[in-house]
Amino acid sequence: MLVPMIAAPAHPDALKVLKSVWGYDAFRGVQGGIVQTVLDGGNALVLMPTGGGKSLCYQLPALLRPGVGIIVSPLIALMKDQVDTLRQLGVRAAFLNSSLGLSEVRDVESALMAGELDLLYAAPERLLLPRTLELLERVQIALFAVDEAHCVSQWGHDFRPEYQQLSVLPGRFPTIPRLALTATADDRTRADIVQVLGLTGAPAFVSSFDRPNIQYRVAGKESPKSQLLDFIRAEHAGDAGIVYCLSRKSVEETAKWLVAQGIDAVPYHAGLSPRERDHAQNRFLNEEGLIVVATVAFGMGIDKPNVRFVAHLDLPKSMESYYQETGRAGRDSLPSTAWMVYGLADVVNMRRMLAQSAAPDEVRRVEAAKLDALLTYCETATCRRQMLLEYFGESMAEACGNCDTCLTPPRTRDATREAQMALSAAIRTGNRFGAAHLTDVLLGRDTEKVRGMGHNLLPTFGVGADHSEKTWRNVLRQLVSLGYLNTDANGHGSLIATAKARPLLKGETTLSLREDVLLPRTASRAERRPNNRSATLSAADQPVFDALRAWRLTKAREQSVPPYVIFHDATLTAIAQMRPSSLAALGSVTGVGGRKLDAYGADVLTVIRELGSPSAPTLTRQQAEAVRGVSSNLAVLSVLNAASKTAPAPGSLTDALRDLRTTLSQESEVSAFLIFPNATLEALALRQPRRVADLHGIAGMGEKRIQAYGERIVGVVRSMTAD
Ligand code: ADP
Ligand code: ZN
Repeated sequence: MLVPMIAAPAHPDALKVLKSVWGYDAFRGVQGGIVQTVLDGGNALVLMPTGGGKSLCYQLPALLRPGVGIIVSPLIALMKDQVDTLRQLGVRAAFLNSSLGLSEVRDVESALMAGELDLLYAAPERLLLPRTLELLERVQIALFAVDEAHCVSQWGHDFRPEYQQLSVLPGRFPTIPRLALTATADDRTRADIVQVLGLTGAPAFVSSFDRPNIQYRVAGKESPKSQLLDFIRAEHAGDAGIVYCLSRKSVEETAKWLVAQGIDAVPYHAGLSPRERDHAQNRFLNEEGLIVVATVAFGMGIDKPNVRFVAHLDLPKSMESYYQETGRAGRDSLPSTAWMVYGLADVVNMRRMLAQSAAPDEVRRVEAAKLDALLTYCETATCRRQMLLEYFGESMAEACGNCDTCLTPPRTRDATREAQMALSAAIRTGNRFGAAHLTDVLLGRDTEKVRGMGHNLLPTFGVGADHSEKTWRNVLRQLVSLGYLNTDANGHGSLIATAKARPLLKGETTLSLREDVLLPRTASRAERRPNNRSATLSAADQPVFDALRAWRLTKAREQSVPPYVIFHDATLTAIAQMRPSSLAALGSVTGVGGRKLDAYGADVLTVIRELGSPSAPTLTRQQAEAVRGVSSNLAVLSVLNAASKTAPAPGSLTDALRDLRTTLSQESEVSAFLIFPNATLEALALRQPRRVADLHGIAGMGEKRIQAYGERIVGVVRSMTAD
């Protein structure tokens, strides 16, 4: 499920440039309309989720309009990345920020003055220097784009005072189009952006905040680390991901534990030195399959497109945080997973933190409501995506089909009786005890504490003995999540029945709970639906993808850029599926623009020719893993060679063709697999081509192979088959 591609009516050159520079066939959603507006000289406000495709909205018009496009961006770390990416596309881009030395600044400035830049990224404080503004007044400017425009607003959490001073732009450059872009869409923030950047009357382009490629999943916390390990191994082996934990300590422990299990992971939190943090971040950007275990300190300023999963081992603070944190997965639109586990202790903790907060009443009420929304989301038995979008004011007519509750719908059943038992246990023990003690009372456990308090004499003692301890903890968790029980501020985790509990106890209302809560269920392996690339890539294409990925890493290292700057995973996936045999065919793949075709086309074709003819031998799991771990084509080839040697060989024509291949291999001193792979050999035996012309269209028989071996192949076929 990808974002629908709508070809909006735009400038004819816009589509041409979209194809020739980016290699994309169509605009996505509102992109076309935005591009058109700016090309017509207008201003615009753009509200799009992460990964929606904001950058194209200013990059493309900047190329088409005369002059240089000026991009204001608060994230210094991202500028280099953006500029590297653009340079790979053949766009003349540069940045100005505090990371540059004096002479580098001079170089950029002189390129600017000489009209040698298409795009210039600048930090706001740098842009606002009188010197920079004066320079800008002397050159032709295509547009101003203010990225992360919500930073102008005091209401948001990313407020930056320099952003408010951007209000000088409309005054000093009244005729230059201004674009404000953000992924934060609430009304107050929006009004601030319009006011500061002088966008009154400008059209607002709002796209859906849905992230259809992200699969949302929430499960009960049992043994979080091994649940996480199972999830990674089953669905995201070798993928990059982020694991969020609440405390530095659990970040450290989890990272260490993952490493001990053979998974490449690094910790990241505010307690590490800036050097250690930079190192972790650089590894994450530049390596393929690293997992970062982090507190929320990690993520802002990371726009790695191929983060395949975000896992929460602790509850996020609110729906807003959850959306933002999970949104770091899958910017490239490929299938990704937002995975979370939580349990009773988390819920009690969060409620307690709120109860202990010294904030003014009004703030606390708002925070309590936010937490309630998050907990309701966690406990829901209906489509999670619908609930998430509804929270942000968007409605979605149908269930999404790509969240856990859609994929394995939980049954709910009336649990009024169990709820009444648990609530009365709390009330009859004086609303003074935590979940562990209440569970003991419900189960009828004659512990010292129970006896000491005389709770073994209560009518509630042992009423819940039919259920397991786990069931009671789950029921209690739901009652706390749904607001029937609250926690006190004393820090002991006492559970207190709230006013909401009364009608339930009196039997005036009923309560349904998820059945899996009453009958805890461990999903069987078959029941789980993996959400990794294998959904997109067949077993036969996977080795090609892996080989391309290994090649990409080598290229990236050579140029000191992150791998995704060379090609995105989505592009490699498409190439692996298509296995183009010519530059023209490769150029038709989404994400392969003219410049990249020139720079990498021949290499890619070689990688494919060497091992990627259609249905190349399927690797065993070990072989595939070996391929995944290497970064040179040679190693990939030797693994594939080994794979091809183990394939079966039925039929005498097959044998004859295999002999021919051995001969050809000896003659040309290349390994047999490179002459043609087994799949091609089988296809030849099946199709029995008797003329060279018949070879066209046989899987794996490209132009070059036909030229080199065509005659010999049809010779063998003719000699082995009757007329
Ligand atoms: P944002 O800045 O909104 O988070 P990006 O501009 O980084 O998003 O784009 C997200 C992803 O979508 C990138 O991988 C980008 O290459 C891709 N993309 C953007 N527009 C298109 C398009 N029209 N066709 C195909 N891919 C696109
Ligand atoms: Zn759903």
